[in-house]
Amino acid sequence: MKDKPTLAVVGGGASGLIAGISAKRFLENRGNVVIIERMDRIGKKILATGNGRCNFTNMNTSVSKFYGKNPEFAKYALDKFGVYDVLDFFGEIGIYSKEEEDGKVYPYSDRSSSILEVLRNEIQRLGVKVVTGFEVKSVKKVKSFFKIVSFFGEALYSDAVIIATGGRASPNLGSNGTGFEILSSFGHNISKVVPALVQLKTHKEDIKGLKGIKFTGGVKIALGSDILGEEFGEVLFTDYGLSGPPIFQLSVISALHKDCSIILDFMPELSEKEVFDLLLKRKELLSHLNMESFFIGLLNKRIGNVIARKAGIEKLSFLIIDLDKKILWEIAKFIKSMRLDIIGHNGWNNAQVTAGGVETDGFNSETMESNLVKGLYAVGEVLDIFGGCGGFNLQWAWSSGALAGKSAAKRLLLKE
Ligand SMILES: Cc1cc2nc3c(=O)[nH]c(=O)nc-3n(C[C@H](O)[C@H](O)[C@H](O)COP(=O)(O)OP(=O)(O)OC[C@H]3O[C@@H](n4cnc5c(N)ncnc54)[C@H](O)[C@@H]3O)c2cc1C
Repeated sequence: MKDKPTLAVVGGGASGLIAGISAKRFLENRGNVVIIERMDRIGKKILATGNGRCNFTNMNTSVSKFYGKNPEFAKYALDKFGVYDVLDFFGEIGIYSKEEEDGKVYPYSDRSSSILEVLRNEIQRLGVKVVTGFEVKSVKKVKSFFKIVSFFGEALYSDAVIIATGGRASPNLGSNGTGFEILSSFGHNISKVVPALVQLKTHKEDIKGLKGIKFTGGVKIALGSDILGEEFGEVLFTDYGLSGPPIFQLSVISALHKDCSIILDFMPELSEKEVFDLLLKRKELLSHLNMESFFIGLLNKRIGNVIARKAGIEKLSFLIIDLDKKILWEIAKFIKSMRLDIIGHNGWNNAQVTAGGVETDGFNSETMESNLVKGLYAVGEVLDIFGGCGGFNLQWAWSSGALAGKSAAKRLLLKE
C-alpha cells in the first residue's frame, strides 16, 4: 500500500502554524503534515507580539496597508482569508476578541500566549506533527520528492514544502534569514532586506540633551521637500535618535527610501503664524526674564533650549526683551518643523518586521506556489510583503499561510 502523502512546513511561526492547520483540515486522514521548527518551541515570536497582547489583525485591513515591490500580490490571499475569516478561525478555537483604537484586534484575555495556546491545541487535535530543534539548511527537489536537510545533516522527505521561515527581524525569536537562502537555491530572487518597524537613528548632535524626553505631537517623514508620510503620537528621544509608535510606523517608509528626514511638530494644532503670535505675546509677558524661562509652561524646557540654540541663541542668559521678530519666526519655525536627518535604524534585533524579501513575481498569488518549482510554496514575512503597525503583518501571515496550506493539500491529493 502506498504511504500517505506528506506536506512539510518549514517554520513554526504564525504563517507556518496556520498553514499546517489549514492543510490538515483539508487532508483529514488522507495525508500527513509536519511542521519543522529550528527553535526548541514553536511560535516564540507570537508571544512577543503586541507588547505581549498580540494585535492579531486589524479591521481596516486592505491591500493599501501593505508595502513591497508589488503589494497587490497580497490582494487575493487577503480577500480569500480576510479579517472576518481570521476572527472566525480564532473564534472557533477559543479566542474571544476585542477591537481597540484604529481597528486593532486583540484576544479579550490580553495575552498573546492565548493565541499560541489555541493554535497548539488545534495542531494537536488534528494530529499535525511538530518537529522542533531542526534547523533546515537546505531543501532540494529529488525527482518528485523534497529532501529537507538540517544543519546537523538529518534528512526529512515530503511531497510538498511550504517555506514559512519569516524574514530577519528579531532573530532571537527564530527568524534568522535562512529562508532566503533556501528559496534562492531554487532560483527565486531576493530583494534587498532592511529592518522596518524599528527605532531610527539621527545625528547625535541634533538631539543632544534630549535623551529620555517624550512628547506627543506630529511627525512627518520627508525626502527632500516631499512629505512621504505623517503620523501623530508619542515620540521618545533616545541616545541614538527617536523611538515611539509614530517613528516605528514611519520607519516602514524610511526602509523604502534612502536619505529621508523626520520632521517633528511640537504644536500640531497651531499654524506657524499662530505659534509666532503666541511667542510674541510671551515676549511681552516675560520680558523681565531671560531665555532660561521662555519655554516654561509651553514646551519641555530641554526641547525649548535645543530650539533656542537652533534659532541662533547661544546663551540662556539672552534676555527675552531682546528677541526680535526674526528670531521669534525662527523659533516658531523650529517648533512646527524640527528636521532631523535619518542616518540609520536600530538594527535587526530591535526590528519587528523585514522590508524586502523573496520577490513575489516568482509565485502564484492564488495558491502561493512557486512558478519555478511545483509543490514549493512560500508564505508570510519571507516574501517581499510587509505592513505597518496595527495587526497587518499577522493578518498577512494568517492569510498567506491559510491559502498556501489549502493549496498544498490539494496538490498532495492530486499527486496520489
Ligand atoms: C516584538 C514584535 C512584536 C510584533 N507585534 C506584532 C503585532 O502585534 N501585530 C502584528 O501584526 N505583527 C506583529 N509583529 C510582526 C509579526 O510578528 C510577524 O510579521 C509575523 O510573526 C511573521 O510571521 P511568519 O510566520 O512569516 O514568520 P515568523 O513569525 O518569524 O516565524 C518564522 C518561524 O520559522 C522558524 N525558522 C526560521 N528559519 C528556519 C529554518 N531554517 N528551519 C526551521 N525553522 C526556521 C523561526 O524559528 C520561526 O519560528 C511583531 C514582531 C515582533 C518582532
